[in-house]
Amino acid sequence: MNVLVVNAGSSSLKYQLLNTDTREVFAKGNCERIGIDGSFIGHEENGVKDKLEVELPDHRTAIKHVFDILKTVDAPIEGIGHRVVQGGWYFPESAVVTDETLGWVREVAPLAPLHNYAEADVIEICREMFPELGNVIVPDTAFHYNMPEKAWRYAIPRDVVDKYHVRKYGAHGTSHRFIWRTVHEMMGDKTHKLVSCHLGSGASLCAIEDGKCMDTTMGLTPLDGLIMGTRCGTVDPATVFYLNRVAGMSIDDIDTMMNKQSGLLAVSAKSSDSRDIEEGANSGDANCQMAMDMFYYRTSQLFAEMAASMEGVDTMAFTAGIGENSVTMRAGVAERLKWMGVEIDPELNKIRSDEPRVISTPDSAITVLVVPTNEELMIALDVEELLGK
Ligand code: ADP
Repeated sequence: MNVLVVNAGSSSLKYQLLNTDTREVFAKGNCERIGIDGSFIGHEENGVKDKLEVELPDHRTAIKHVFDILKTVDAPIEGIGHRVVQGGWYFPESAVVTDETLGWVREVAPLAPLHNYAEADVIEICREMFPELGNVIVPDTAFHYNMPEKAWRYAIPRDVVDKYHVRKYGAHGTSHRFIWRTVHEMMGDKTHKLVSCHLGSGASLCAIEDGKCMDTTMGLTPLDGLIMGTRCGTVDPATVFYLNRVAGMSIDDIDTMMNKQSGLLAVSAKSSDSRDIEEGANSGDANCQMAMDMFYYRTSQLFAEMAASMEGVDTMAFTAGIGENSVTMRAGVAERLKWMGVEIDPELNKIRSDEPRVISTPDSAITVLVVPTNEELMIALDVEELLGK
């Protein structure tokens, strides 16, 4: 089945057209700066990258352009999969778009206002413009929906939890689900308790026992948990009250600070990109070294937390930008987990490849893998399953 996967942000729209049987990617790209001056589409087809300077006043225009561009590709679109950041309390799994399910995406949007409204708009536009095509909602939270109550419940009053749906939702669920699937294909019965480590500019860990999410490090929003590119991860929640009352910062200021000006960027005082930070540390920048040390410290701590939530762990998988590419960061995290029996082979760790691979020694108590994630394929497979071939 040829599936168009759409990932809409507030000012961007990523797309990928792929076939679920052959897994061939026919074309992909990103509409950038939607509604902002200087908009363009970065399009890639047959390995050739193109930058198309077009006016993109809104998502409707962007979608129109995407369909026009894809008309020349010899793979008619048979279904559309939409990544939705927040499925809230409605989506334990992906779902076909109907008036009802689309309404749910809007209803839970206050939990992820920057994403869900744009995503809902784009779904609506696709339905309107191409009524003959089926659309599927693939929420990033769905994989975490059925984690045990003791994992998702916050210890705040029950009426507040119920009325405002305050709980742990997690994120990166589509990636964690793909990682489980791939690890399971490779390891078979040797893997029962996996900690999937999605380390990109956003980062989260997920404890997965026999395919089921047992806990994850992101919370009500993707701000919680690990130290990320520009997000602070877990801090004492009272930091917010303190900054508001004592420093006179508004809630919006604190929101911006914690989401956009914190994390590796803040600690390194240099960059949110791990490559720049590694380079800085190598040339003796103490702030960059601290950013890396803190990244290892928190990632290894939360790894142990995820293991504790399963009362054990047999497999660890690194994925996403940092997890797939950074030899140094993988080694740094693994070093801090030696006490748990993690032992990676430095030579295997150095190998660069697009294939999933084991990088631990045969004696390691925990098998460690690097698994390139493929959220688009996972979304497309859901579309195929729900809409049929
Ligand atoms: P997201 O999808 O959340 O934006 P990615 O998974 O693409 O993030 O990860 C982006 C991050 O991965 C970059 O900020 C960078 O820190 C890191 N990264 C990407 N490539 C490399 C590399 N070759 N070596 C080290 N780090 C890398």
